[in-house]
Amino acid sequence: MSEITEQKQVFKKTVVGHKCDNCGAIENDYTVYEETWFNYSRAHSGWGNDSCESYKYFDVCSPACFLTLGMKDGMENLEGYDSAEIGDMPWKFFKKLAETVK
Ligand SMILES: [Zn+2]
Repeated sequence: MSEITEQKQVFKKTVVGHKCDNCGAIENDYTVYEETWFNYSRAHSGWGNDSCESYKYFDVCSPACFLTLGMKDGMENLEGYDSAEIGDMPWKFFKKLAETVK
């Protein structure tokens, strides 16, 4: 069997930086990102398709951005769900944390 070949140019998507989902800050140095940023998910396991759609990832550049975005996003998408979690903590606990450091 002989192979028939042709030369093709392939475009690959590569991550070259991260953008804070709260303030828009950009970090291109992956080492800095790994050490100082926080990537978290939030979701609730409410009834039906809602719970898959509620799963979302965020990047934040600081604790302040985590608390600000967490409160804004949580109030819009997690409020009222007993099972809601944000950054691996219960939504209700997160709200208390945000109130504490206000
Ligand atoms: Zn930020």
